[in-house]
Amino acid sequence: MRQSQLFTKTRKEAPKDEVSKNAQLLIRAGYIHKEMAGVYSFLPLGLRVMEKITGIIREEMNVVGGQELSLTALQDKSLWEKTDRWDDAKVDNWFKTKLKNGTEVGLGMTHEEPLTAIMAEYVSSYRDLPIAAYQFQTKFRNETRAKSGIMRGREFLMKDMYTFSKDEKEHAAYYAKIHDAYIKIFKRLGIGDTTHATFAAGGIFSKYSEEFQTESEAGEDLIYVDPKSGKALNKEVLTDEVLADLGLSRADLVEKKSIEVGNIFNLGTKFSEPLGLTYLNEKGEKQPVIMGCYGLGPSRAMGTIVEVLSDENGIVWPKSVAPFAIHLVVLHDKEGKDGTVGKAAEELYSDLTKQGYEVLFDDRELRPGEKFADSDLIGIPLRIVVSEKNLAEGKLELKHRASGKVEKITEAELSAVLAK
Ligand code: ATP
Ligand code: MG
Repeated sequence: MRQSQLFTKTRKEAPKDEVSKNAQLLIRAGYIHKEMAGVYSFLPLGLRVMEKITGIIREEMNVVGGQELSLTALQDKSLWEKTDRWDDAKVDNWFKTKLKNGTEVGLGMTHEEPLTAIMAEYVSSYRDLPIAAYQFQTKFRNETRAKSGIMRGREFLMKDMYTFSKDEKEHAAYYAKIHDAYIKIFKRLGIGDTTHATFAAGGIFSKYSEEFQTESEAGEDLIYVDPKSGKALNKEVLTDEVLADLGLSRADLVEKKSIEVGNIFNLGTKFSEPLGLTYLNEKGEKQPVIMGCYGLGPSRAMGTIVEVLSDENGIVWPKSVAPFAIHLVVLHDKEGKDGTVGKAAEELYSDLTKQGYEVLFDDRELRPGEKFADSDLIGIPLRIVVSEKNLAEGKLELKHRASGKVEKITEAELSAVLAK
């Protein structure tokens, strides 16, 4: 894509009321637009990153047998009354509205109820189980605090998977597979090293749930990490009894601020019982289905990547989620676009694109300083500079955004570097 045609422009300042680093950088670089606190639009660059992130998550959810679907945002009150989650006294972050005839409806903040009700129409025998279904869907939550940029939206994208199993054993096996898929996802997103599977408060059906917490000063959570095993637990469950349970010594534990990028939960029969999701076992006996839920926020993950990996000059995307693989920057000679340098850059852009690389081509006639500052802010992993000086040497200048390393290479050597 030609940067001259990208309608977004970089900005020196983020909106004054934006206090989070992730949203400040993403707004300044033109990835997102702030509509109001906790409500952000994704612009062309931002959507590209979001699609990379959802692509990685989708691949890993498919590997564990997940079937993708898409549920509605408008919610039927009667389903949520059956599980006692409609009342504002029970769930305080519902956005609710009314149909013209006065019927109340909710805007989905999670989807256990509707999906359980759908499954009740399809599951009847033990032969139908297990099932894992997931979606990427916009959730609406009337969050009280929305000061963390895209990490805490009032409208935000969530990947939510739900599993339906015959018994605890089958559930535990599925849960373990998805747990491992989450570890792979965070590794692929470039935040694997600082993300800990963390024990957190459970519910009626299990002592603990697990959160995937990424170490960051921008986080809203406090976790305690065991440096030896890498195991962690949320402050909310830190008691002497829990430390014993997990075989950890309280004295060793290191306190860290962190961001909850995902969580997985054993739901037992909490939803299947009230919504009538049962099956007949081999003996013909009616049994409730055992459920699990597995949340992951792609926009929170995107904000986390920005918080954790950016530097004083801007965003630093890992290759796996960058909007483009290469930022091709031309520094025109006196003749501008029609000069030798301009033409050489055009040719390289066309070659790279033909080879299938995703290239953002900064073909704008601007001062080098402005172009480099924009390039650092936007954060594409590799920058190739075509200039009069480099051409005279028969070389291209390659800069790695993350390390700052600069190499001068010939065009012939480029494909080997790109293949790495
Ligand atoms: P938190 O404690 O941070 O509010 P939660 O316990 O409400 O999170 P879930 O309801 O389980 O989280 O949601 C699953 C995932 O969705 C979270 O792990 C997180 O990645 C993401 N998520 C939750 N709330 C938001 C939000 N307001 N904005 C963006 N992502 C969110
Ligand atoms: Mg919440």
